[in-house]
Amino acid sequence: MKKDQMPTGRRMVLRIAAALGATTTVGLFGLGREGAPGTGTTAAPARPSPPGTSPPGTRAPTAPTAPAPAGGPAAGPAAGSANRPMAPSPYRLQPMTSHTPPRLQGARALPPVRQRPFLRVAGAGNTMVLTFDDGPDRRYTPAILGTLRRYGVRAMFFVCGEMAVHHPDLLREMADDGHVVGNHSWSHPLIPKLKPSRIRHELGATSEVIERSLGSAPLWYRAPYGAWNRHSFEIGAELGMEPLAWTVDTLDWKEPGTATIVGRVLEGAAPGVIVLSHDAGGDRSQSVRALRTYLPRLIDEGYHLTVPRR
Ligand SMILES: [Zn+2]
Repeated sequence: MKKDQMPTGRRMVLRIAAALGATTTVGLFGLGREGAPGTGTTAAPARPSPPGTSPPGTRAPTAPTAPAPAGGPAAGPAAGSANRPMAPSPYRLQPMTSHTPPRLQGARALPPVRQRPFLRVAGAGNTMVLTFDDGPDRRYTPAILGTLRRYGVRAMFFVCGEMAVHHPDLLREMADDGHVVGNHSWSHPLIPKLKPSRIRHELGATSEVIERSLGSAPLWYRAPYGAWNRHSFEIGAELGMEPLAWTVDTLDWKEPGTATIVGRVLEGAAPGVIVLSHDAGGDRSQSVRALRTYLPRLIDEGYHLTVPRR
């Protein structure tokens, strides 16, 4: 493993942030006090490799195609319940909706088209957000849900449609426990390599599966490998979703050892940090064990683990 592929915690994060000259922060409580993309002051996610250098099938996050600093929208996500029905979406996959009756949609306005994803959360106190990508996977997701439940902690699960379609029960378990289910595309492709029509399919079909399982479409999405492009921001917004990245990458997909994952989380812990882990895509037993160790420690350190609201 090359040294430049290894994030070294907050120092690395802050160095990258300094290079970018900006950050992206989302309000934790949806009170309108949050920064918007391009207007914040702190960290960006560690980026082990540039876009396109990780072969599909791996889970290597790559550099977001975030534009230059500034130019972000002036307002963050609107206040409201995380479970409120989303605004009408112009897109539905025909094969998956042919038997779905039209549903009355809530009055939620579509989010603006972002120019970069949210990288942090802002909220009162020492809040942090735990996120788990690529699932659900019956081998690991239930154990993670169990640990979160044991400590009464809410988290975010960015699910892939091709996994979620087989596990609607796990999606409902997530929602029943108060977790946020986000969209992580259907098949975990490298988004910038896809035509817009294919991006629309990847995101739209996944939102459809989530909506069919939970009764409401997801409000957040995350590009596989952290590789976003303009089309993904446009299509995500059309589907009513805000783009959420991360601050601290545990690189758990490399199976570095449970202790290493724990160390990365604890070293990167700070108010507003979003932690990236995985509950699928490979052997995630280290991720499962690590959570059991770092979660109580974060709580002991006074962190409030919760989810952002829109
Ligand atoms: Zn992923």
